[in-house]
Order: sequence, then C-alpha cells, then structure tokens
Amino acid sequence: MTVAGADDKANPETAYEASAAWDGGRPATLVICCSDGRWRAAVQEFVEHHLSGDTHADMLMVPGGIEPLTLLDLLPKDFNFMRRRLEGLVETHGTRRIVAIAHEDCGWYHRRKVGPVTFDLRERQAADLKRAAARLRSMFPGVAVETWYGRLSGGAKPRVVFEEV
Ligand SMILES: [Zn+2]
Repeated sequence: MTVAGADDKANPETAYEASAAWDGGRPATLVICCSDGRWRAAVQEFVEHHLSGDTHADMLMVPGGIEPLTLLDLLPKDFNFMRRRLEGLVETHGTRRIVAIAHEDCGWYHRRKVGPVTFDLRERQAADLKRAAARLRSMFPGVAVETWYGRLSGGAKPRVVFEEV
C-alpha cells in the first residue's frame, strides 16, 4: 500500500462515490459522545429523529466522550485538546446546541475506574456530564447545552434508551 502524495492521481479502481448527497449547510448541533461503534447507530438515530431532525450534526467522538472536559486540573493537555477543537467547530459552524451523551458500560470509564469496587459508574458519568456541561456553558455562553445517558433495555436483543441527565 502506498500513501497518496499531492502528485498522485486518484485510482479509479479503488475510488468510492458515496450515495449520500453532500449537504454544505452548517450544522447547528454538535454532539459530543464516546467513539464506541456499538452505540453509534443508536446515537445517530436519537440525534436525527428525537433531538432535532438534524441529519448532519457535527460529531466529536472520543473514547469516554466528554471526560476530557472534566480534566482541566488533572490532565490539562487532554482538556485543551478538546477545548481547541470545540472552539474551532463552534466558531466556524456557528453552533447553537451542544448535546453531550454518555453510555452504559463505557470501556473508557471502566479502564479509568479508581476507588472502591462498588463505585457506581453511572453516577460518576452523570456527575462528569454535569461538570462538563457547566464548563461548556461558561466557554460558549450563547450555546444551549444538554446532557444525556444511553442505557441498554431489554434482554436478548437489547435496545438503547436515552434519558436526559
Ligand atoms: Zn464508551
């Protein structure tokens, strides 16, 4: 496999044209969520059908979702990575709404788990969502911020239920 340089011609054998029509309108909504692909289809549907009908919301997906926004004191580099990218998006797209979504059984939170074994991850994630939301509101005073938690419901074929936090 070669890396395409500026002078390389596109290879028609491997090129792929997406069927989705390009929409150049600036998305008004920005979603911050975990990159865990198992949740992506449900998150996408939730955003499109329940929240806003915005079919092309901006998505900022990193493992653990908003968690870096709670790390200003502990890991300022992580916080600033998120902050710079958020500032860029909000500035260029004129974002009016930020939707932060956490999810059940998040691998990132399991990995970073500290404290007693009985520690409730959902509680921790809800607290982090609120902290991050407060931070986002102070960073972007004109932008509406809301927080949601996705949990599994049902037995053999579970579905994802989103609840406001
Ligand atoms: Zn996750």
